[in-house]
Amino acid sequence: MNVLVTGGAGYIGSHATKILLERGENVSVIDNLSTGYKQAVDDRASFYNIDIKDKQAVYNVLVKNKIDAVIHFAAFSLVGESMKYPLKYYDNNVYGTKVLLDAMVDANVKTIIFSSTAAVYGDHKKMPITEEFAENPTNTYGDTKLAMEKMMKWADIAHGIKYIALRYFNVAGAYYTGEIGESHNPETHLIPLILQVPLGKREFISIFGNDYSTPDGTCIRDYIHIEDLIEAHIFAMHKLISTRKSNYYNLGSGEGYSVKEMIEAARKVTHHPIKAVQAERRAGDPARLIASSKKAEKELGWVRKYPKVEDIIASAWKFHQKHKEGFKNE
Ligand code: UDP
Repeated sequence: MNVLVTGGAGYIGSHATKILLERGENVSVIDNLSTGYKQAVDDRASFYNIDIKDKQAVYNVLVKNKIDAVIHFAAFSLVGESMKYPLKYYDNNVYGTKVLLDAMVDANVKTIIFSSTAAVYGDHKKMPITEEFAENPTNTYGDTKLAMEKMMKWADIAHGIKYIALRYFNVAGAYYTGEIGESHNPETHLIPLILQVPLGKREFISIFGNDYSTPDGTCIRDYIHIEDLIEAHIFAMHKLISTRKSNYYNLGSGEGYSVKEMIEAARKVTHHPIKAVQAERRAGDPARLIASSKKAEKELGWVRKYPKVEDIIASAWKFHQKHKEGFKNE
């Protein structure tokens, strides 16, 4: 099959590209390298340094490579930044997706798997979060992803573009070889930041808030291994091609780990004491976010291979030891 991965130079897109190639698919990648790294893109993919907002260029890639399905990752994804620069997020995420869908209509490509987020749900007291929960984003990032999902719904009705939106919880870890992994600049995510301590790149990890209503007072999140996440995309793509039925699914583990538990797990994996320091709460952090992924398990046949957080951290640790300075564009 011919698959186009947008945002294929980013953390999640580069893993999708590699795993699809391993499965024998032909992969084309579009990325403008604004936050991604060419270095992360597997050489076997056809790489195009273009912007999803350039309709003609996207159209040309779709037609030239006879694309059967698009997996759409290209988006900005930092909650804090989205609150500071909301219009930048609407432009890239919402307008960019509009242009991509336009190009797909013209090129007659009717299948898209789409990277959405738990942030579409906003704050809920009850856990775990199922797909029946109301969508009520509390930040611009989540709102742009919800707008993208809605756009796809109407593009399906009007143009027959079938989509599956996958709502991710906390994606973490790295490809088992350690060749690619999570490399952001600046880094804001918990696991890579914790690992900077044993790498000697930071003295301590800050724990953002210790007075949440959780057993140890620190925030609880649902961590899912990147390889398991990508597997769900591949299941979703095949399901969509065979059923032609648009849908959306949560992707998480159903289990929650606190910030303190994650630091403790990283100590075990790295055999390093990892100094932790109490800090202020980070604005906008809900106390607990745990997914129910029963729908994906039941309907997509998705089974996680890496349910243990230690295994997730160990894979990230392997990547960071190999790429101490992360990725860089020349
Ligand atoms: N966190 C922390 N210290 C850090 C970075 C993150 O305590 O240096 C916490 C953060 O407040 C949240 C959890 O770790 O409760 C996961 O944060 P991350 O940014 O990785 O993902 P998010 O849940 O925001 O998508």
